[in-house]
Amino acid sequence: MKKNLKMGCMLIMSAMLIMTGCGNNNSKDASTQTNDQTAIADTNTSTQSNEKEAEKEAEKEADATSSATQAGYTPYDQLKDSYDVIIIGAGGAGMSAALEAKANGANPVIFEKMPIAGGNTLKSSSGMNASETKFQKEQGIEDSNDLFYEQTLKGGHDTNDTKMLRFFVDNSGAAIDWLDSIGIKLNNITITGGMNEKRTHRPEDGSAVGGYLVNGLLNNIQEQDIPLFVNANVKEITMQDGNVNGVKVVFNDTDEKMITAKAVIVATGGFGSNQDIISEVRPDLKGLVTTNQVGSTGDGIQMIEKLGGTTVDMDQIQVHPTVQQDKSYLIGEAVRGEGAILVSNEGKRFTNELDTRDHVTAAINTLPEKSAFLVFDSGVKSRVKAIEQYEKMGFVKTGDTIEALAQEMGIPADQLQATLDTWNNSVKDKNDSEFGRTTGMDNDLSAAPYYAIQIAPGIHYTMGGVKINTNTEVLNESGDPIPGLFAAGEVTGGLHGQNRIGGNSVAEIIIFGRQAGIKAAEFTK
Ligand code: ADP
Repeated sequence: MKKNLKMGCMLIMSAMLIMTGCGNNNSKDASTQTNDQTAIADTNTSTQSNEKEAEKEAEKEADATSSATQAGYTPYDQLKDSYDVIIIGAGGAGMSAALEAKANGANPVIFEKMPIAGGNTLKSSSGMNASETKFQKEQGIEDSNDLFYEQTLKGGHDTNDTKMLRFFVDNSGAAIDWLDSIGIKLNNITITGGMNEKRTHRPEDGSAVGGYLVNGLLNNIQEQDIPLFVNANVKEITMQDGNVNGVKVVFNDTDEKMITAKAVIVATGGFGSNQDIISEVRPDLKGLVTTNQVGSTGDGIQMIEKLGGTTVDMDQIQVHPTVQQDKSYLIGEAVRGEGAILVSNEGKRFTNELDTRDHVTAAINTLPEKSAFLVFDSGVKSRVKAIEQYEKMGFVKTGDTIEALAQEMGIPADQLQATLDTWNNSVKDKNDSEFGRTTGMDNDLSAAPYYAIQIAPGIHYTMGGVKINTNTEVLNESGDPIPGLFAAGEVTGGLHGQNRIGGNSVAEIIIFGRQAGIKAAEFTK
């Protein structure tokens, strides 16, 4: 009970802190370098100062609400000089890795540079994709690993690392079972863009997956007595005689320590908050808002490159089509998955809302206003709990009638009415003759009151990253593993190819996070 209270406090604090990071748009002028690796090395210094400011901001808020110890993190005076496995980053991948490392007989530690755990995982909304799961079977949803594989490959335009993808789909069902076995139940199933089956697993009440998942993982980390240090910024991974042997980590911005280990797992997430790297690898995305937390600055990639690790797909950055712009807040795909449509300022639909994210983004960008409205009814609202949060944040316009909603939105009421009438007929006939949508059509949009959220695209996810194999070993340029060095989660590249399907990221961090913990523990023996 006491622990749950602590966790609750911590999550509220987390949400506040993460919000601090929202909209942090540290855009800087950058030359149009083409060599990814040089670009990353060059941006290191200016990124550090941006990052420091962001961390300070976050720390200020943390101090005001709670201290790290109160929140259940490990006090600094319990730090040891040596562990079996060091895990860098306390997002979903890092915490899953830690739990498996411990379960497989190793003695792990987690270092997290922010004042809180959770990373971008905390912000994830839609759910976790998985196939052939017990929950799908219970609910009569027919699915197979092969279909999951094919649809992900199609969504990634046939550019995914197929070995990684095969491992991913084949281990997805087991990952859902594993989470369930540690008290994290994802049994409410929906669908996301680019998928043809219901395989996006969410918490029972349909709420956003991130907070629930992070809370559950943290509870397990505490129960297993796994040390988790926050404000622990890893600056370097060290090597001796060709083997990784530890890290240099700066605590509370002041104390630098060398901590040794037999293996290191890098789970530092992506670089979606590093405007410098983004401007270098994708100048066309410069200045877009980002949905990422401030700590997603690509540190792991930079540290691994220094050890000879190689990267893939660094220019493949996912722009999410539905981001509330003032707060850079992602509006989850489940809203469309549960039936919402997108309409333009003219009040018209303009695309298959559940096409892949890159296609929906491109469609929004062809509109003169380069933004759109998600329109839905009270049925969608009741099925997607996250909408309550969007309402609290002031994003949602409401009308008791379609006309009233149109007025709120400032768009033609006749046209919005006509659009909804046509759409509701398409739902009834299960045939969207206008844009060929086939999913998220279980329910029409006819239950008042009606709602709308204005959105536009924003930087969301970095698909590229360090190259690993299915054992999560980090590979050098010749394709050989760097002994003792493992990586998992958004810091890695290849699985998603050129386009990530919604719900595949949470699946990736659990599946490959677990694998990293297992393999690193094996390595230490
Ligand atoms: P994933 O989804 O892959 O688990 P997340 O973004 O959820 O990634 O989590 C990555 C975590 O790693 C974040 O909490 C981030 O603050 C942390 N992190 C990033 N760089 C460092 C670093 N240099 N030292 C310690 N922690 C880091």
